[in-house]
Parts: sequence; C-alpha cells; structure tokens
Amino acid sequence: MRVSELGEFELIDMISKLIGKPAKDKTILGIGDDSTAWRTDTGIELATIDTLVENVHFTLDTITYHELGWKSLAANVSDIAAMGGIPLYALISLGLPGTTDVDDIKKLYEGMIELTNRHNVTIAGGDVVKAPQLTISVSVTGKATDDKMLTRSAARPGDIIAVTGNLGTSAAGLKMLIGKLKFSEETTSLLRKAHQQPQPRVAEGQMLVQNGVKAAIDLSDGLIGDLGHICRMSRVGANIDIDKVPINPIVKDHFANKALELALVGGEDYELLFTAKPDIIDKVRELIATPITVIGEITREHAGKVLLLDANGNTIDFQKEGFNHFSR
Ligand SMILES: [Mg+2]
Repeated sequence: MRVSELGEFELIDMISKLIGKPAKDKTILGIGDDSTAWRTDTGIELATIDTLVENVHFTLDTITYHELGWKSLAANVSDIAAMGGIPLYALISLGLPGTTDVDDIKKLYEGMIELTNRHNVTIAGGDVVKAPQLTISVSVTGKATDDKMLTRSAARPGDIIAVTGNLGTSAAGLKMLIGKLKFSEETTSLLRKAHQQPQPRVAEGQMLVQNGVKAAIDLSDGLIGDLGHICRMSRVGANIDIDKVPINPIVKDHFANKALELALVGGEDYELLFTAKPDIIDKVRELIATPITVIGEITREHAGKVLLLDANGNTIDFQKEGFNHFSR
C-alpha cells in the first residue's frame, strides 16, 4: 500500500504503534498536542517540528525568501505559544537545489533572525542537503511556564471559548496573492503581512497559563478544524456564535460574503484559541493588551463536534449548506 492510499492520520497511527509506549521512567506528556512535552528534573521541556516543501506548502511566486524564513520559524514558535511555553532553541534543516542563489539563503536567514530576535530564540544548529526542491524543516524547543501547560485535552463543559486577534486575515492575504487582487497599498501590506509574517502569540500564551487557563490550540488549520481537535481530545462539544467571530473590517470590506468563511476555515492566522471558566476569561481579557473575543462555549452535548449558531441560535449545517447561506 502507498502512503497516499493510507492517509496522513492512519500513517501517524501506524508510526505511533511502531514506536510503542515510552519507558516508565520517561514521562511523555504532550502526544497529539501542539508540541510534545516531557518531564525532566528541572521542569517540563517542549519540542515541535514542521516541514515546508516548495510547491506543496508554498510557492516562490508569492513569498519572498525573507518572509519564508520568518514564516517557517513562526509556525513552530506558535506551537510552543499554544502550550503557554517559553521558546528557547531552533534547529533548521534545509534541502536545496544546486541552482539556489546564495543571496536568497542569506535573505531566508535574515527573516528567521528577525523573528528569533523578537522572541529571544537561539538558532542552535541545523543541516544543509541537496534536494530537488526547496525544503525547510524547523524544530523549536522550549520549556513550560511555571511547570504548567495549555493542552488540547483540558476543555470542560461550561467553559467559554475565546480567541486572540482577528480571524481570516491570513486566508484573505493568500486569496489576494493567488488571485493577484489589487487593493490599496495599506490593505495589500496588511493582508500580505498577515499571511506571510504571522505573529506568534508567545507572551499571550504565557499569560494565559499563568492566570489559570488550561486548554488552548493555535489556529493553523482554521477555527472549525482546530476547535474540533480540542473537542475530540477533551471529549466535549463546542457552540460557536458566528456573529461574534472577530474579523478585521478591511477583510469584511474587501471579501464581503466570503469573509466569514475565511475566518471559520481559512487557517494560518496563528492566533490562540482557548477555553476557561467565565471569571478566568474576564481576568485575562483585562490583563492582556491583545484583543480577546468570546466566540462561544464548550458543551457536554455533541461531544467531538463543533456547531455553528446564527444570531437566532439556530444551528447551521455548513457542510451541507455551504457558507454563502449565512454570509454577511
Ligand atoms: Mg499548532
């Protein structure tokens, strides 16, 4: 059987079985979460890894080497942020065609260094190999804040669901780049930056974990998909009030009836979605300068599923009806 026939999740399942359970003296805490985690004598250590392949995950027609450097590291730093952790070190493995311009690799690293400087991450090593297309594999390590973590499995019925920032801006940026859409300089720059140079919510993740939040995920695949991970791992359901989902007014103006769909399934916003009891949500909203929006609640009912509710509280079957039905 070929891997394309088996599918991604079955393949991961097969590998997990081959690896088997860790030895009793090695406590692995983070399997299936944004980062893996293990306990050491001095606290909890975190690690995450991600690979980007040219013409699979990006095309050099729409992203500069500088942006690519930033984005490849940002995705990993965001996974540490989703655990409430402190990112520490990065390892970078590059697969390069022999024709790659050396100056472009300088630009790639300048983009990475701009991000690592901002988050106090040290590039500790890496590898360079020859490859048929540009491949960037990044691993970032970190440590847990105050020996505590945000996980996908800690959401409980009665929790409120909240997100940082706006959703859908990155997907709007991708649509603009692919469709070569022409907007004002200000709009173009905002949308491009949202997609190519996302801001991992590192400080926010740490403040969440310090103030009693236990469940979170970073929004890389899209609100519905990522909240679905929380629902399955926490064995709870979720209701989303679609009118509350925060969307940048610029995205609403330029993408009209597509804006909500971009916010719900667009992905790559790298905002944090988290759940907690109402008093904790109130507290973190006051403490964190980044806008935090309440978008719904965790339920005991319909475990594993995300339901979308319109302004009248009616459920919308977005798979059957599509998104145009309720676009604003
Ligand atoms: Mg993640």
